Amino acid sequence: MVDVIIIGAGHNGLVASIVLARAGLDVLVLDHLPWPGGMAGWHVIGGEEVPIGAYVLGLIPNELINELGISIDHYRPDPIAVYVKDGELVRWWRDFNRRIDEFNRWGLGDELRSMWDEISKFHRALRNYLFRTEPPSREELLNDPVLGEFIRVRSRDFLGKYLPREFWDMFIFEPYLDQPAFMVGYYNPINDWYFPAKDGEVGMAVFARELYRAALRSGARVMLGLGVRKIVIEGRKIKGVLTDDGRFIESKAVLSTTSPVNTVLDLVGEEYFDENITNRLRSITVGGAYRVALVSNGAIRLRGELDRYRDSILQLPFGETIIHGNYLIVTGLPTRDELENYVVINWDEVKAFEILTPQDYEKIFRVAGGNLNHLPMFEEFLFDRRPVPGWGYTTPIKGLYIGGAGTWPGGQVTGIPGYNAARKILKDWSKLSD
Ligand SMILES: Cc1cc2nc3c(=O)[nH]c(=O)nc-3n(C[C@H](O)[C@H](O)[C@H](O)COP(=O)(O)OP(=O)(O)OC[C@H]3O[C@@H](n4cnc5c(N)ncnc54)[C@H](O)[C@@H]3O)c2cc1C
Repeated sequence: MVDVIIIGAGHNGLVASIVLARAGLDVLVLDHLPWPGGMAGWHVIGGEEVPIGAYVLGLIPNELINELGISIDHYRPDPIAVYVKDGELVRWWRDFNRRIDEFNRWGLGDELRSMWDEISKFHRALRNYLFRTEPPSREELLNDPVLGEFIRVRSRDFLGKYLPREFWDMFIFEPYLDQPAFMVGYYNPINDWYFPAKDGEVGMAVFARELYRAALRSGARVMLGLGVRKIVIEGRKIKGVLTDDGRFIESKAVLSTTSPVNTVLDLVGEEYFDENITNRLRSITVGGAYRVALVSNGAIRLRGELDRYRDSILQLPFGETIIHGNYLIVTGLPTRDELENYVVINWDEVKAFEILTPQDYEKIFRVAGGNLNHLPMFEEFLFDRRPVPGWGYTTPIKGLYIGGAGTWPGGQVTGIPGYNAARKILKDWSKLSD
């Protein structure tokens, strides 16, 4: 009998495994994929370790990284990001005053300063609510003098107060414009994005590998390449899991870090839940991302002035683009011509070219809609409504917990859902181990 089975060796599953194993529990992490880190992991194409999903960090608090006992460097190119606006470059410099100067080219330096002040206040206020075993309710956050405003005001109105429309894409993706400005705050870390690095290696694989090693050091067992077919329940209580190869593993608790949609509808089965819950989760239609990856024999170059900023996060009209040495990834689906407008590609040198669709992501990660946040980050699924009002990290099944991107505070690489879910299990442990 295992104490806790964790479904998913994504970053949240690994974070949870560290917290639980350090507390002395017997922890087994299962993932059908051969790599650790889930969407924050990597796969090898054309001989290079290329991120399969996430490529930059910024939302995972440094205190959490330290507490987990992993050590990574922050590689921050300068400028961190470059945005192409009507053929002109807008550079997001590391130095704040330089950013203000950059925006002053359009006479918008003061506006940027005021907006960034508000975003900084947002993050200071948010810290009080992040590490909670019971997610904050919308009402509680509405009562917060800073966060309340970020919930009442829409992203488009918040951004529109400071900047003209053509600058908004720098701060938020289009689908969030009609969502609370909370999303602008969430997606714009004050300490900025960075690439994880260690011993001269730069890339998401560094982070995933470090986290995986920390999980093993903590005493957790991590089995890659072995998925879960079913969560087994008896009398509304967890019994264990059935693996893809037909083995039953008994456990006192199960923590699922895959999408709550898949957890409820596929792994448990809708017969265990009220119809309004299954309907709510079934109704989610928002899809995932496209990803284009290209690996070349030689260094990849950009056209014109952009080539000076090859290491930066490049916000090109067709999607965010990253170049590390010999590989390029785009989160988007550019045509060959669109790509070649910005990137010098010698097709004879190209060793590997890959396109991943939302359907591919759905299949690879077994996540509904291939959704990179597991659930939409829309108002209906924010705060204590993520995934279902009143659940938090628990479910109506005794011993079944959830703790991936589909729980508070939400998607992206934050580590917080996994951390909070593990702490919730520890809090409940005396009741679970009866
Ligand atoms: C293209 C793309 C670009 C992104 N870019 C960024 C970025 O730059 N920065 C950022 O912060 N975020 C980014 N994200 C989002 C971020 O990667 C995810 O939100 C985050 O990694 C989710 O972490 P998680 O641990 O909650 O879930 P996942 O990483 O999805 O982990 C869940 C794990 O569960 C496993 N699993 C599912 N079903 C089963 C089963 N039945 N049995 C066993 N295992 C199972 C899956 O294989 C997976 O490994 C991006 C995502 C994508 C797809």
